[in-house]
Amino acid sequence: MTGSRWIDPGVGLSYLTQMAKLPIVTLPDPILRQPSAPIERVDAEVLRLADDMLETMYDAPGIGLAAIQVGVPRRLVVLDCAAEGDKPEPRVLINPEILHLGSQLKVYEEGCLSIPDFRVDIERPSELRLRYLDREGKLQEHDAGGLLATAIQHELDHLDGKLIIDFLSRLKRDIVVRKFKKLARQDGPL
Ligand SMILES: [Zn+2]
Repeated sequence: MTGSRWIDPGVGLSYLTQMAKLPIVTLPDPILRQPSAPIERVDAEVLRLADDMLETMYDAPGIGLAAIQVGVPRRLVVLDCAAEGDKPEPRVLINPEILHLGSQLKVYEEGCLSIPDFRVDIERPSELRLRYLDREGKLQEHDAGGLLATAIQHELDHLDGKLIIDFLSRLKRDIVVRKFKKLARQDGPL
């Protein structure tokens, strides 16, 4: 075959379905403090970003990731809080909003993909009601509890520039930030 402009179907398909792993922004990058803007339209670009974020989250591995953590200041979150060994439960939340927080509190030891090798016990409401747009751009309202409720609050904090180190005393927070600044200097500019 000569001069063919047909693309090999196998190659074309894998190109279309391939998801990309994105670099995760870490402390002390100031973008993590930037509030994220709402998504105006759920289009192919947004869905592509959501898929890439899921791929990035599973690879890390983590149970949640906000768009700002891959450097995109938009109100988009992906989550999967399925127990290890269970069927995956990928969730995409666009413009998520907490409508109601329960009065019961629960402590989880939280980590963050933007703050590697750091964990902190955080007490948060154990139940909430959430409103968001799904992948089809449809408005959804759901109740969440347990680990999912904690993960949702953690990720929504990211959309407002809030991090788990903000739950520490100022002294402890400064120690963590200093450590990450030092690490960033050692690694040099990326
Ligand atoms: Zn986080």
